[in-house]
Amino acid sequence: MSTTQHEHFDVIIVGAGISGIDAAHRLQRDYPEKSFVVLEALESFGGTWLVHTYPGVRSDSDLYTFGYDFKPWTGAPIATAEEILRYLGEVIDDGGLDRHIRYRHRIQTASFDSASGTWTVHGTRGENDESITLSANFLWMCQGYYNHAEGYTPEWPGFESFAGQVIHPQTWPADVKLADRNVVVIGSGATAATLVPALAGSCGTLTMLQRSPTYFWPSPNTNEVADMLRQLDIPEEWTHEIVRRKILFDQELVTQLSFQEPEFVRDELLNMIRPLLPEGYDIATHFTPKYMPWRQRLARVPDGDLFTGIREGLVAVVTDEIETFTPTGIVTVGGTVLDADVVITATGFNLSVLGDIAFDIDGVPVDWAATVTYRGLMFTGVPNLAWVFGYFRASWTLRADMVSDFLIRMFHYMDEHGVHVVTPHLRDEDADMPLLEWVNVDDFNPGYLLRSMHLMPRRGDKPEWQHSQDYWREKEIFPQATFDDGCLDFA
Ligand SMILES: Cc1cc2nc3c(=O)[nH]c(=O)nc-3n(C[C@H](O)[C@H](O)[C@H](O)COP(=O)(O)OP(=O)(O)OC[C@H]3O[C@@H](n4cnc5c(N)ncnc54)[C@H](O)[C@@H]3O)c2cc1C
Repeated sequence: MSTTQHEHFDVIIVGAGISGIDAAHRLQRDYPEKSFVVLEALESFGGTWLVHTYPGVRSDSDLYTFGYDFKPWTGAPIATAEEILRYLGEVIDDGGLDRHIRYRHRIQTASFDSASGTWTVHGTRGENDESITLSANFLWMCQGYYNHAEGYTPEWPGFESFAGQVIHPQTWPADVKLADRNVVVIGSGATAATLVPALAGSCGTLTMLQRSPTYFWPSPNTNEVADMLRQLDIPEEWTHEIVRRKILFDQELVTQLSFQEPEFVRDELLNMIRPLLPEGYDIATHFTPKYMPWRQRLARVPDGDLFTGIREGLVAVVTDEIETFTPTGIVTVGGTVLDADVVITATGFNLSVLGDIAFDIDGVPVDWAATVTYRGLMFTGVPNLAWVFGYFRASWTLRADMVSDFLIRMFHYMDEHGVHVVTPHLRDEDADMPLLEWVNVDDFNPGYLLRSMHLMPRRGDKPEWQHSQDYWREKEIFPQATFDDGCLDFA
């Protein structure tokens, strides 16, 4: 179809993180005739797990479900970034995927030409930012959901007057020395819960300053079923599948219970951390969130390590708003003065909608907020493009798998029907459908989404037009979704 001078592929996959490697593996396995290339801005694979290098960085999902269905996980359920990178490296080696991946290739613009039915992407490569142009019939966007270059830091009063060192965990300096220094970690999410135990005992003082508490789920970093199956010498493929199913079964129960009996789940979670904290510790202030369980990601704390530092007097927790920074530290609204040589801002991400690439269709810029999502993976009016946006409540990868299977099925369908362009569009029956924000904020409300929701595509109130964040419902719907329901226009 294309008459370009530059290289042309059936599919360009953008990003070599866990989603891009999944896409490449499945495309090669399930549609080997398709030509494809993976373009990755960084110098290596792994995405999130390459970018984040702060002490202790680890998953908060178990790797039986955060790992792939096709590659058994053989380690402890919660894994370090290093272990995840090794696993992804093995997937690349096993499938010979390296020959398809081009590192240090950053895409900046993507233009769709309706006459030829192709995307042309422009960007830069290598250390000298040499210009590149490639084209493809289909863009498979696996670029994650946040800006990889810079994390989110709020603007606090007096922040610029602070004379100490400020570090965002996303851009952790390799040479930082914390011994004998007073360190304040601002934040209460999974990153803070990982950093604090990793730093406990290696600083002068260590304080976790949080505006409001988060739910934590302490549990041993083991899996009894996996241990038992291994004792019986069951093949790793079986162990992986059985443990995966068991974890998903249990997670479904916890998720359902969190919505049916939220007070019960809250009390159970608090009962799990109580014995890990000193006698009489003020759990009501420091570890009882204002929201009900599962409205934000529930951070697992392997072996309760966050609480060990608190119990041993190595970590102080302050729950209060920041009134102002001073040259020597922080003063809270409640009047607590925290002396700090180093402030670590574990305050989250900047959301990035489709990799901050400038997209256009026949020269008209794409405004993502004016589109409606088709099943959380394609967008009305945008041809031949899909985005992998995973789950937050369940492992991200489960949705990456589903999206891959759906797209490959769609590629087969298109080729069998001799069509080259697929574009989602609202049907007549959807004309009066209410258009809502990307996610229901009563259901799920992390800060980075709330801050940037206005930039995200919109959703409808029917399964075809939303990303429900409900793995257990979508796992039934996705494999049965057909291509003739009128939502997809083929040409
Ligand atoms: C510290 C941390 C821990 C997490 N733990 C979990 C967990 O336990 N479980 C879970 O489900 N989720 C977790 N998440 C969410 C996590 O980001 C995803 O689960 C998953 O790793 C995302 O994979 P991805 O491949 O979709 O995106 P990413 O890992 O973000 O990778 C995207 C890749 O695309 C590349 N890219 C982006 N834009 C461009 C461009 N314009 N041109 C070329 N390349 C580009 C990036 O360089 C990057 O390598 C965690 C996130 C963080 C930050």
